[in-house]
Amino acid sequence: MTIQENIQDFRQRLQGSNCQLIAVSKTHPVELIMEAYEGGQRAFGENKAQEMKDKQPQLPADVEWHMIGHLQTNKVKYIAPFVHLIQSVDSLRLLQEIDKQAQKHHRVIDCLLQFYIAEEETKFGLDLEEARQILRSEEFSNLKNVRICGVMGVATFTQDEEHLQREFSRLRGYFEALKSEFYPELAFFKEISMGMSSDYQLAIAEGSTMIRVGSAIFGNRNYAVSQ
Ligand SMILES: *Cc1c(COP(=O)(O)O)cnc(C)c1O
Repeated sequence: MTIQENIQDFRQRLQGSNCQLIAVSKTHPVELIMEAYEGGQRAFGENKAQEMKDKQPQLPADVEWHMIGHLQTNKVKYIAPFVHLIQSVDSLRLLQEIDKQAQKHHRVIDCLLQFYIAEEETKFGLDLEEARQILRSEEFSNLKNVRICGVMGVATFTQDEEHLQREFSRLRGYFEALKSEFYPELAFFKEISMGMSSDYQLAIAEGSTMIRVGSAIFGNRNYAVSQ
């Protein structure tokens, strides 16, 4: 199947559901992203600020750029003028920097809090208590140019469906806990970003509102060539 066909296939599958497709285009050239765009895709995910910054001016202005990788504070400035959603917020310090850069560009940047749900030691993210501490803090209440719209998580790399289900369900639990404590009346706090090429069906069954799919759309990534 071509990239366009893959996109159309996903669109059909998600039609009428509460779940949106984020096409993860990291490492892929703009020509391939354009193929997905022509298939109707607008939301793309990148995991490096520099790569996103380089690609953005080469693609149509209505592309929605999602940052899904670990973001260092000194790189926020590269993407602040245009980024649609920063999914990988894992500290108050990062939020403060996003707020500062957003202010410079007279905009409010939407963010998700990234949670640690996997067993693997290398995965980034907050636990529920850390997220509560951020949202309760006075420093956070002073930030006027960021808006928290939900949660994001990366599950363990495993085929074990029960295990994956448990991790996805835990993330949904975090979402619900934060929703009821901090955002009960606020409709914008609604996103649960979970599920990738190998596990998106399970994630959708557990309430995902954003699946982040790369290889099932663009094929395998060749890191050696692209970097
Ligand atoms: C690369 C990446 C994805 C997509 O992975 P695939 O297995 O190619 O679908 C999703 N989420 C994050 C955070 C990623 O870094």
